[in-house]
Amino acid sequence: MSTTTSGGDTAADRPIVLASHSGIDRAAHHRLDEAWLAAAWSHPTTRVFVVSAGQVLIDDTPDGRTELVTTPSFEAPLTETHRYFLGTDEDGVSYFALQKDSLPGRMDQSARPAGLREAGLLLSPRDAGLMVHAVALENWQRLHRFCSRCGERTVIAAAGHIRRCPACGAEHYPRTDPAVIMLVTDEQDRALLGRQVHWPEGRFSTLAGFVEPGESIEQSVAREVFEEAGVTVGDVEYIASQPWPFPSSLMLGFMARATSYEITVDGDEIQEARWFSRDDLRVAIESGEVLPPSGISIAARLTELWYGKPLPKPLN
Ligand SMILES: [Zn+2]
Repeated sequence: MSTTTSGGDTAADRPIVLASHSGIDRAAHHRLDEAWLAAAWSHPTTRVFVVSAGQVLIDDTPDGRTELVTTPSFEAPLTETHRYFLGTDEDGVSYFALQKDSLPGRMDQSARPAGLREAGLLLSPRDAGLMVHAVALENWQRLHRFCSRCGERTVIAAAGHIRRCPACGAEHYPRTDPAVIMLVTDEQDRALLGRQVHWPEGRFSTLAGFVEPGESIEQSVAREVFEEAGVTVGDVEYIASQPWPFPSSLMLGFMARATSYEITVDGDEIQEARWFSRDDLRVAIESGEVLPPSGISIAARLTELWYGKPLPKPLN
């Protein structure tokens, strides 16, 4: 973790949403053991939830928390074709996700469907970890139904973690696409924030982009910053990562130090970029001129780490 914040502040200690310790052992050695999986599925303590198009059911508890809605397996719909084994917790409870075309109807009126951007902020690290695992598998299954080697339809295996091709024998594994996201600072410790072309007016955030084939992540940071803002960077410090299954990225978060300061945006991806001092950013946010990164994204955490404390809110 970074040490860029001043003492007494909690921003640096807060876990990255979706990436903090979930308390779940993925127990990958059980994925190919059909007898073990069958026994785990029918065990009375096993918990099951449905994932559908990136959404799950969440519910509020009487004591003010928000939980993933899970059921025992005997209550779970048995017509499933896609059953993902997600792991076990410290009490030996097994967790499965069922991928279905729609979420089940609920008797409990307070239960509601939610995607990761909402649920990630509300759920416990354990529940958020289970959800992000299930959503990432669902996205991969949905987009990889055919063999990339021969074109035949593939079948699910290893409790959701492999797709096998019956024609050529190829095994396909879930893919994760590395992306870099970076808070760039200049010699006055101002932060470089940019506005993407399709973002709402006033939204500014850290620069980001995908790692290209044959490229190191440090090279990727430097290339993306130069392409998007025309700024060159020198030292790059890794901070933290975050799974980002929209649909299949892993965000690698960095602090980077600029070695040139003149901004030339590409106009294609980034419409505007600016150097912000901490005072500049505070005033711009408080006046409503700038909407800072927020929500579950690691961009919000990187910006807070630089800012030194939680970002201000608009005054009105
Ligand atoms: Zn094949």
